[in-house]
Formats: sequence, structure tokens, C-alpha cells
Amino acid sequence: MAGLTATAYLAREGRKVLLLEKNRELGGLVNSFTRDGFHYDSGVRALESAGIILPMLKDLKIELEVVKSPVTLGIENEILDIDDLGSLDRYREFLKKFYPGSKDEIDRLMKIIRRIMKYMDVLYGIENPIFKDLKHDFAFIFKKLLPWFPRFLLTVGKIDRMQMPVEEHLNSLLTNPSLRDIISQHFFKNTPTFFALSYFSLYLDYFYPKGGVGKLSEGLRDKILELGGEIRTETTIQSVSAGSKTVTDQNSSSYGYENLIWAADLKTLYRIADIGELPAEAKARFETAKARMLQNKGGESVFSLFLGVDEPLDSFRRIAKGHFFYTPSRQGLGETHRGELQELLSRFDHLGKEEILAWLEKFLSLNTFEISIPGLKDDNTVPAGQTGMIVSFLADYELFKKVAEAGWLDEFITTIEDRVISLLAGSVYPMLKDRVISRFSHSPLSIHNRVASSEGAIVGWEFQPDMPVINKIKIADRAVFTPLPSVYQAGQWAYSPAGVPMSILTGKLAAKEVIKPK
Ligand SMILES: Cc1cc2nc3c(=O)[nH]c(=O)nc-3n(C[C@H](O)[C@H](O)[C@H](O)COP(=O)(O)OP(=O)(O)OC[C@H]3O[C@@H](n4cnc5c(N)ncnc54)[C@H](O)[C@@H]3O)c2cc1C
Repeated sequence: MAGLTATAYLAREGRKVLLLEKNRELGGLVNSFTRDGFHYDSGVRALESAGIILPMLKDLKIELEVVKSPVTLGIENEILDIDDLGSLDRYREFLKKFYPGSKDEIDRLMKIIRRIMKYMDVLYGIENPIFKDLKHDFAFIFKKLLPWFPRFLLTVGKIDRMQMPVEEHLNSLLTNPSLRDIISQHFFKNTPTFFALSYFSLYLDYFYPKGGVGKLSEGLRDKILELGGEIRTETTIQSVSAGSKTVTDQNSSSYGYENLIWAADLKTLYRIADIGELPAEAKARFETAKARMLQNKGGESVFSLFLGVDEPLDSFRRIAKGHFFYTPSRQGLGETHRGELQELLSRFDHLGKEEILAWLEKFLSLNTFEISIPGLKDDNTVPAGQTGMIVSFLADYELFKKVAEAGWLDEFITTIEDRVISLLAGSVYPMLKDRVISRFSHSPLSIHNRVASSEGAIVGWEFQPDMPVINKIKIADRAVFTPLPSVYQAGQWAYSPAGVPMSILTGKLAAKEVIKPK
């Protein structure tokens, strides 16, 4: 997304621009594909505009037919559709049913979520000015931007004070550990509080491009080509020479650049950059930044199970909407995905398969699943009378790597698939018991291999106090600078917390730096 966005903006400016992409298909983690007649999204399942995606499309004059992608939340056999702001009250009562001893604490939590929703209304309340024509659009400047700006500054200050890990914040608010888990366990570990608790607003913002999320990437690709930009796929950059300003691919073909925007994993850039010809001071700055990058890890990855089901969409429609966060047990993961997982990893070589599978059983039964049914958002995406679904959960790259090294990855994956199907068949989707006609999965290892993302991360860096990149909204425009001359960075590794909107924003910011008269 970051690379496509930057390329489109440079092409619009009439710059000579070439996008080099490792894979045959474009879009990275924003991608769709078809298998056995079923349409699936392999990365993000739906999009949140966040004041960025839709304004970018409008600015670049890209037509994309979109529909709302409503969300349902579910625990055990209780299901709640999130339709509007009033759903927050219903969510409060929903939680109280499961945790009746925590009623007052739930009320307090809802007040905080409501406050955060107000901040979100300010933050995303206008189209992001970076996608507006500020030289000519006076109506936007005077009617929207100027009245909004002081509120934005005030709100950003409050948001910056809510950066502590969500678990820490919930510890100080909720005494019931299961309740804390249910609120937070489908977020990445140590997600900043503001980002995690803002999700209620984001649930109302989700939309889905007709034909699949990958239509967003296709729209950008078509625009780039229309504007005279060039794209070369199946081209992996294997070295960057900062002195001679060239990059070289897997076939030893070299490409000279005036400016380079690196829109992939930053650890790769720092590993492959040759700084031999740079002045000593620039070398020292690069080495300091490199050390910080390499000592940090990518955040969690995801396991996705793709299912073709011989059962019509209507049967699924009666249960939940097409974007469903479902937790089969109110108990919560507790230490299963933290201390217990760390212990398992540290003793992995001394453990038998049974012990690892016993942990897996507990991990899956207590987890939260993100379930996407593309056909419920666009019924053209499935064969008549059948349904495709994608079931995913956050997963640890290290664990899959160790299992692969021990030689039983296929068995591990098959066990996960069987268990997830039986968990869902025994709870919300009974038809999965005997109607699954096709299945396959993407593990953290496949994500790592496909988009070359460290630790199979899907939103860039792991959340921890010493972020190697900018993580404050007020200074987001600085996120694109690297210590290498004429080299900019963009995408999920360039700013934290990331996701599709930030990848687009940093792509645009990097293009802006290149275009700026020097
Ligand atoms: C299951 C799932 C759910 C998600 N849910 C959400 C969500 O709800 N909201 C949200 O905002 N985000 C979500 N995300 C995250 C979001 O999809 C990503 O953060 C975003 O798409 C990243 O875009 P990017 O351009 O920064 O990076 P990428 O998509 O990783 O693109 C990098 C590109 O660079 C290419 N590349 C890598 N190395 C090289 C090389 N050496 N040479 C040439 N090319 C190279 C890769 O092939 C890839 O195409 C989700 C992701 C997944 C997988």
C-alpha cells in the first residue's frame, strides 16, 4: 500500500517513477485471490478509512465501489451486532451478562471508550489535509481545517498521554482477569491503550471494496499505469548502494535512482544497504539507526484458515455479520499466550509433541477468532449456494519456526485446522461439522515468505517502549526520513502503530518529500 501510494503520487506529479515488487501480485498485505471458485482476502479483511483511505481515493480520482462491512461480536452463545453508537450501550449490558461481579468497572470502562470515541471523532473528523489541495480548496481550509486544527492539537495531546500498553491500563481499571482478556486478547501484545480502545469507533468505520480488499491495490495499480508510472513485479531488491545510488535485484540487474522510497521491511533495508562510499558522519548515523532496527522485532503474526463450505450464505447471515470477532469461552487466555508460551518456547527442544499439542488445545479453546465471510459483504464472491470463510487468530512466528525445524509443521497445521473447525462447529457454526468441502491455511511462516516481513509481522514493529521509529501523531511527517541520502522510508515499518491507513499516509508523505523543491 505504501509503495503503491507513493508511486501513484509521484506519477501524478509527472516524475519518472518505477515500482519494484518482489511478488507476481501487487498489494502486499492488501490482496485478494480466488481458489476453487471462492474469493478470499489474504491480508486485511476490511478497511477503515480513518480519514485517509477514502480521501486518498478521491484525491487520486480512483473509483472504487464499496459497501459497509458491519461487525458482530460474540462470546460463547451470545451474539451482538455493532450497528451504531447505541451498540456501545448494548455492549456494556452484553459484558455484564458474562461478568456480573464487575458491573461498576464495566460502566467505568465504557465511559473511557466513549471518551476515546470523541477523540476519534476529532482525529478522523475531517478528511486528512494531506490529501487535499490546500493551494486551491479555500472552502476546505476556512470551513473545515482552521476550525478543526485547535481541537486536533488539544486531542493529540490527550491521545499521547494514552500510549501505555492496554493490558497495563486495564489492570488498573478491571479486577477480573477474564474480563481484561476478553477486551484485549485479540490485540497485539502491549498495543497502546488509545489504539486498542479506539476499536469500537473503527468497527463502525469498516468498509469493503466490492470484489474484495485487493480491489484497492488494483485501483492504485491502474492509476499508476494511467499516469505513466512503471511497475516491475517478481523483482526482489537484494542490495542498495547508497554511494552510487543504485539498487540491484535477484538477477543482478541494477537500477539507478535519484530518490529511493523503501516501502518494505526496514530490517531488510538496513541489512542490505552498502554505505561504503558515504562520509564518516553519515556512516555513524546509519550504524546507530541500524543497531536500533536490528535489535527490535516485528510484532505478532496471524494464522488464517480458509474454508469452502457447502452451505448457502443465508445460513451464515442468520448467525453473524460478515466480519465477526468470536470468543468461544468467557475464561480468557490468561498467561497461555504470554508466560506459558515463553516457557514452551524456551523448553521447546526438551518437550514432547503431546505437551506442545496440549498447550495448543488450550490456546485455541480460549482464543478470540476474527471470522470474515466475504460473501456476506459481496455475494458475487462465492459459487451459488456455497460460502467461503476466513478464520484467523494472532499467532507467534517463533513457535511455527520451531515446529517447522522439528519437522512436523504439516501435522501441526492440520491439527490447528481440525481443532478450529470443531470449536466453531461445536459453538456458533454447526454446519461446519460436515459441510466443509475445501480448506487450506496461511501460517506466520507463509506471511514471512510472501511479503518478506520480519517475524511474519502484519502491522510492523512489536509494541515496546523503545520504538525504533516515530510513534507520535504530531511528528508523523518525520517518519519518512532515513540516515541515507535521498532514501526515504514508508509503510508499516516506518511509523507505529501502523495498519493500512498509516501505510498510505507515510507513502504519501514520502512522495511529498521527494517532490518538494530542494
Ligand atoms: C490478517 C490481517 C488482518 C489485518 N487487519 C488490519 C486491520 O483491520 N486494519 C489495518 O489497518 N491493518 C490491518 N492489517 C495490516 C495491514 O494489512 C498492513 O499493515 C498494511 O497492508 C501494510 O502495508 P505496507 O505497504 O506497509 O507493507 P506490505 O503490505 O508488507 O508491503 C510490502 C511490499 O514490499 C514487497 N517487498 C518486500 N521486500 C521486498 C524486496 N526486497 N524487494 C521488492 N519488494 C519487496 C512485499 O512483497 C510487499 O508487497 C492486517 C493484516 C493482516 C495480514
